[in-house]
Amino acid sequence: MAGTLVVCEHLAGKFSDITFEMLDLANSLGTGEINALTFGSMAENAGELGIANKVISASCSNDFNPETYSAATVAAIESTSPDLILIASTSMGYDLANPVAASLDLPLVAYCTGIQNNGEDFVCTSSLYGGKMNVSSKVSGPVVAMVLSGTHDADSGRREGAPSMSEIAAPATDGKIRFKRLIEPEPGDVDITQSEILIAVGRGIGSKDDIEVAEELAELLNADIACSRPLVDAGWMEKSRQVGKSGFKVKPKLYITLGISGAPEHIEGMKDSATIIAINSDENAPIFDVAHYGVVEDLFEVCEELIEELE
Ligand SMILES: Cc1cc2nc3c(=O)[nH]c(=O)nc-3n(C[C@H](O)[C@H](O)[C@H](O)COP(=O)(O)OP(=O)(O)OC[C@H]3O[C@@H](n4cnc5c(N)ncnc54)[C@H](O)[C@@H]3O)c2cc1C
Repeated sequence: MAGTLVVCEHLAGKFSDITFEMLDLANSLGTGEINALTFGSMAENAGELGIANKVISASCSNDFNPETYSAATVAAIESTSPDLILIASTSMGYDLANPVAASLDLPLVAYCTGIQNNGEDFVCTSSLYGGKMNVSSKVSGPVVAMVLSGTHDADSGRREGAPSMSEIAAPATDGKIRFKRLIEPEPGDVDITQSEILIAVGRGIGSKDDIEVAEELAELLNADIACSRPLVDAGWMEKSRQVGKSGFKVKPKLYITLGISGAPEHIEGMKDSATIIAINSDENAPIFDVAHYGVVEDLFEVCEELIEELE
């Protein structure tokens, strides 16, 4: 095996957790040398990437630009010939993995939750349809695999060290895409990242009016209300309450979900909560895979009983 290239993702001057998750995965695979590709001045933090044997620094802006970053990734693949290229399954990763795989004519496996190295080939498991279906793909390297956040241990991938360093120039692009500015989410009425107890409402609540049940329970528990993305998309709740990949990452002492299925994009934002209690009428809902306690019941019946008890 000719090694792995981990394409490091960063935001606002810090490596994202998914970078360390991918390093943890690369380390578990035994594919040989691990090279980490960083962009702009992020190479200055190479000491955090101790699992990597070598850090390849692309000289370009720190601001994500799919054209420049994919051209640099292609150059790094051409110079290191890895068998496996790991790219984050994130908004930035989607813009990067596709042009990279297309320009080198490599297979691309998306939504990976796990990868096994069989010596001759890789077996990649992809989580599809919001976690309802797992698909295994057997592919021979070189292959581009997009890794879902929350599927590997970022803490194990975070290791101090002194990988060797090299630099590549990001090839010139025609500059069709330009970075303008990073838009931070508007701070809302409540900062859910600071809440000790969160009651997270999902599509299972059924209607905007029924959110009242969760609010009643929240008041009794001195909790704040959070939600999954469909409620924000439907205009039922403010974006400042959304937990997940495109929302906020939260770590409360207690996270109670009401009618949330547990799609990887939601789990990414709440999996580190100290205690998770899931209430869902479908016993096969993936949320039960991360919950410490689960109730397979109609959420309205459970809320009613809880409210009665607490009162
Ligand atoms: C790029 C990208 C980014 C995304 N970012 C986010 C994000 O930041 N946050 C996020 O949450 N999602 C995000 N998503 C969407 C995500 O994939 C899921 O679609 C979403 O999380 C599903 O929300 P849900 O669990 O509320 O709804 P559903 O998946 O529809 O689940 C509803 C659940 O309610 C249960 N239910 C129904 N009625 C009842 C009842 N009466 N009692 C009990 N249980 C009941 C059902 O069994 C079901 O499991 C993103 C998707 C993409 C592609």
